[in-house]
Amino acid sequence: MQKIILGRIGEIALKGLNRSTFEHRLATNMKKAISDLGEAAVHWSQSRYFVEPAGDDFDVDTAVSRLSGVFGLVSVSPAWAMDTDAEQFFSAAVEVAGEKVKNGAGTFKVETKRGLKSFPMNSPQISEEAGGRILDAYPELRVDVKNPDFTVFIEVRERSYVYTEIIAAPGGMPTGSNGKACLLLSGGIDSPVAGYMIGKRGVAICAAHFYSYPYTSERAKEKVLELARIVSRFTGPMKVMVVPFTDVQLAIMKNCREDFSTILLRRSMMRISERLARKNGCSALVTGESVGQVASQTVQAIYCTDNAVANMPVYRPLIGMDKMETVDIARKIGTFDTSIQPYEDCCTVFTPKHPKTRPNLEEVLKEEAKYDFAALEEIAIRDVEIVNV
Ligand code: ATP
Ligand code: MG
Repeated sequence: MQKIILGRIGEIALKGLNRSTFEHRLATNMKKAISDLGEAAVHWSQSRYFVEPAGDDFDVDTAVSRLSGVFGLVSVSPAWAMDTDAEQFFSAAVEVAGEKVKNGAGTFKVETKRGLKSFPMNSPQISEEAGGRILDAYPELRVDVKNPDFTVFIEVRERSYVYTEIIAAPGGMPTGSNGKACLLLSGGIDSPVAGYMIGKRGVAICAAHFYSYPYTSERAKEKVLELARIVSRFTGPMKVMVVPFTDVQLAIMKNCREDFSTILLRRSMMRISERLARKNGCSALVTGESVGQVASQTVQAIYCTDNAVANMPVYRPLIGMDKMETVDIARKIGTFDTSIQPYEDCCTVFTPKHPKTRPNLEEVLKEEAKYDFAALEEIAIRDVEIVNV
């Protein structure tokens, strides 16, 4: 018997002619996710992936936990693999049940999938025989098919697999299978979640962060880099471009009406981001905006912000979500605790007392025309600091 990991795919299985491109990419990403844990082979057949460690020192538990975050997989199971031989998988079934009994389980059921139709027993017969042997070994156990403490899964294929755990993975598409986008990453709750969601569709992510030193501190920047690191656990290594934004912000404050400052600042961010995105081979911008959430995210404000982007789609995966829904995802992916650390953001430092909630584009453009921001934006782009996480 060999301890292996089974992975299951979801949406990739619906792909047509190009399915194999996605399958290869997923295998590559799985290998990368576990490459430091020891040697292991990754292969697949139909909708199943198999991770087979080369030696006993391979850290299966850590590998399972890493793989449960890989985009493209819908679930993973640590499993015992063996030749397709009834005696072998029945004794494996008894053994995995024993582990559960040790941990206090009292009820179980057996579920069998027989992929190998030539095998002489059918699925119900296999389940019944396995259940019988488990009960013989642990007479204190009871069968409960509706709500068991654990289930023993037996899969009979060319080889056979026995396991009790099915751990959910995020689904989606393998990272790198669907182009590249530039995430506008703040230190808030929303944008890391937005990056995760677009990354989940297979899109590789780089990030732009606007930073107003000394109005925002070094620690505020560190916090953003930490968020990028957490998101990159799912999306793969990420290039973060830290954009020095102080001079643009000061120019806005000095030259334009205060109640327009937020919208002007957001427009400048979009212009700079679009250029950084293009430089980095990206085909889209990603933000964490959600319609109606704050003054800068009313329907009219987003209209004015969007207008600053010359020729690139802006993905806003949170657009229709409630804050609570976003917080749930932030907790799940592990960004929430970092996001709520109370460091100032460049937007909050310069927040006007009465921002325009329903800006009119003509008025916005008129305010913007009071100063030529192009030169400062050019310098900001030139002085970008690059951090690879
Ligand atoms: P978040 O929780 O992501 O900070 P928010 O609810 O605070 O969002 P805003 O401050 O209006 O909303 O920002 C809207 C979006 O603009 C953010 O989700 C992010 O994509 C982008 N953004 C805001 N501030 C910055 C920044 N300093 N650097 C990069 N992008 C930013
Ligand atoms: Mg914010």
